[in-house]
Amino acid sequence: MIAYLNGVYLAKDEIQISPDDRGFLFADGLYEVVRGYRGRLFRLSDHLARLNYGARHLRLGQHDFSCLAAVARELISRNQLEDQEITVYFQVTRGAAPRAHAFPAAATPLTVYAAASLYHDQKMQEARQEGIRAITAPDIRWAHCDLKTTALTANVLANQQAKEAGAGEAIFMRDGVLLEGTHSNFMAVIDNTIVTAPLNNYILGGITRKVVLEICREKQIALEERPIFAIEIQNATELMVVGTITEVLPVIQLDSLTIGDGTPGPVARRLQEEFDERVRKAGASS
Ligand code: PLP
Repeated sequence: MIAYLNGVYLAKDEIQISPDDRGFLFADGLYEVVRGYRGRLFRLSDHLARLNYGARHLRLGQHDFSCLAAVARELISRNQLEDQEITVYFQVTRGAAPRAHAFPAAATPLTVYAAASLYHDQKMQEARQEGIRAITAPDIRWAHCDLKTTALTANVLANQQAKEAGAGEAIFMRDGVLLEGTHSNFMAVIDNTIVTAPLNNYILGGITRKVVLEICREKQIALEERPIFAIEIQNATELMVVGTITEVLPVIQLDSLTIGDGTPGPVARRLQEEFDERVRKAGASS
């Protein structure tokens, strides 16, 4: 597989990254995962805008990564991934320098990496049909969850906890409020309204969340962006998690509470259809 590192395309297994890289030493960097349907990257500009936002907040020195769109296209072509189901991964770190917490010299080049891979996950397709169980987990992350940094230890631990409990996702809870999953945003249907946490520093501004909100506005599906308290879940008729890889994934049980009749509900089904329609339209127009 051909990948990209700092302006050069080369075989992925020949890529070398310094042990002094600040991504390795401090998780001092950002990443993005973009899904491609039949080789067409879905909402790439939104993903790159989020990368730019993160770069500004981390003061990376370079705040415009729109050039990575051309890199992604080149990777698709060099790896013959046109018309395939794929993911493209981007990572940017503050570069390699002798270990010190403060920023390295201004001239230190960032490390910019990208790779495109085939994507196929039969289990995820089945989960979208059948729904998943989820658990709640205390949110032990830092207070800048709006930045998509590679510092994912809290997400890793919570996701592993979910896996060991036989569940598909863990939902982070802070002060009695359900915020988001370890790699997804969280939504509940309460009183026929889709409720999801508001955009602030406690959640990632998910691109799939944004697409779902657009669908709700366009199709006049009632929506509220407000905190979801854990005690409200007993009134929820549906739950779901949404993300680039998960898309729209119904949650049929949270901890020991069965949601609705324990099968995916009509709102999740409708959102799945509308999401697929957007993917189809995006493919046709690009
Ligand atoms: N929240 C977190 C913590 C995530 O890691 C992700 C994606 O990885 C999401 C939400 C969903 O974001 P997106 O829809 O942009 O994939």
